[in-house]
Amino acid sequence: MNWRNFEKHLLDSGFSQKDRAFLEKVFEFASKIHEGEKRLSGDDYIVHPIAVAIKIMNLKLDAATVAAGLLHDVVEKDPQAQKEIRKKFGEEVAFLVDSVTKVDRVHATGTDRAMESVKKMFLAVAQDIRVVIVKLMDRLHNMETLSYQKKEKQDRIAKETLSLYASLADRLGMWNVKAKLEDLSMRYVYPQEYEKITTEVKKRLPERERFLKKLVPILKVELEKEKIPLSDISYREKHIYSIWKKLEQNEGDWSRLFDLLAVRIIVPDIKNCYGALGVIHKLWKPIPGRFKDYIALPKPNGYQSLHTSVFAEDGVVVEFQIRTEEMHKEAESGIAAHWAYSEAGKPKQGFKAIGKKFNWIGQLAQWEKDLEKSNSSSEEMLESLKIDFFRDRIFVLTPKGDVIDLPQGATPLDFAYHIHSEIGNKASGAKVNEKLVSLSRELNSGDVIEIMTQKNKKPSIEWLSMVKTSMAKNFIRRELKISGSKSFLSLNSYPVDLKIYGKNRIGFIKDITAVFSRLRINIQSLNADRSGNEAAPIKINFLSKGEEQIKKLTEVLKKVEGVTRVESKVK
Ligand code: MN
Repeated sequence: MNWRNFEKHLLDSGFSQKDRAFLEKVFEFASKIHEGEKRLSGDDYIVHPIAVAIKIMNLKLDAATVAAGLLHDVVEKDPQAQKEIRKKFGEEVAFLVDSVTKVDRVHATGTDRAMESVKKMFLAVAQDIRVVIVKLMDRLHNMETLSYQKKEKQDRIAKETLSLYASLADRLGMWNVKAKLEDLSMRYVYPQEYEKITTEVKKRLPERERFLKKLVPILKVELEKEKIPLSDISYREKHIYSIWKKLEQNEGDWSRLFDLLAVRIIVPDIKNCYGALGVIHKLWKPIPGRFKDYIALPKPNGYQSLHTSVFAEDGVVVEFQIRTEEMHKEAESGIAAHWAYSEAGKPKQGFKAIGKKFNWIGQLAQWEKDLEKSNSSSEEMLESLKIDFFRDRIFVLTPKGDVIDLPQGATPLDFAYHIHSEIGNKASGAKVNEKLVSLSRELNSGDVIEIMTQKNKKPSIEWLSMVKTSMAKNFIRRELKISGSKSFLSLNSYPVDLKIYGKNRIGFIKDITAVFSRLRINIQSLNADRSGNEAAPIKINFLSKGEEQIKKLTEVLKKVEGVTRVESKVK
């Protein structure tokens, strides 16, 4: 039954024989893993990945993305599956599934301000626009079946959908998806308002429709006279959530809500968009300030159309939206349409290239600018000017899914201090993605980090070389100073004098100090003034953790070119 449902869509999809055979194999694999598993609705679990994959197919995305849709929950069910996916279905599908799994850990729980970090992290972790689209389709289907969830979960998921997913859909210009997500969420988050507006719209819509039915023939006659070809004309019902938002702006005044039902006109090309606009303005008087040329000046998410509102017959206000077929497809499914239609007939070269064409990064830059406008204090201004988050920021998660934004190269110790200075000070170990790692391991975007603490643990001077953020460094310095210099001994470190003998050559000292930093040993003082006497040693003082460390250091130093002898003396 499930297979037949999927197969029907597969046959309509336009995929090649080879792609269809490939997706059939993926389907079988996913079915096997989810076998016996049920959704809360009582359906077999596989119904959900199928629904997601069909939504992806409807957006006309490539076979790898459809495969990722089928497999998107497989790794959660069986962590071992990731390897098998790579072996069976290749690197690209494995990468998409892996990224979807990572993105799953990103949850929006914080305040609005934290929301911006969450969105950025989501995109940084996703790495590929297709991953974002899989997640949007996943969320859409989960929202469509949210009634089966418990009340508490409904509320949390719906709120997250409004603050994170709808906003991401908007950023990608996927207007249709955004509208669906918002209306579905509103039902759960603001049930009374949803009910009220739906009732009101139902009451007003028939009258409005009757009116437009009279209006459209008048327009059609005029367009024909001016020889403007019409591809389609229809009414667009504004979605409930956006009506509600508009109403709030207008203090609940329905009469100022012009676009409850807008007329959408689709023509073959841009020239005829302006032609149709001329006809409308000749027929009816436009309302000043309501004309918007999004063709000449597209919205940041790429949306293009002409919008105008006019006083139509009997002075009733009507909004028109005029656009080409291509603009229409893009307005409906955003970046996905761009991918599907601009590449028609050509071999698909991967989404990243399309992303560039769509000015994906440009959009994010615009996003930063929006932020900048909305913030007033100079400190926040500086924050929002950082558009380097793909280059030198990473986004990691607490086990609860809170997002922590750190510089590239940051370690679990940075993370610990970021959470709280006491967690930093008492840090004894770390788990990254449930695996034990050292506190100095470099972190990656999407990592989930858990810090283990010990009551009597204290920072050591070496920690200073293990952290990247100045915040962590300051906390460590403060803690070391508060403890007093005597306590260095109690931290099991003691000063050591080292004498290094060897030949003078260019870069000699640099190579020696490099050894210290490689072994993460902080040099306290260095005296390299040998006054031309090669027999005189370079003297280095450092805080040592013990015999073992000194032995290792000596060994490595002896390997440096030119070093003849190393002597150490514990003070
Ligand atoms: Mn899912």
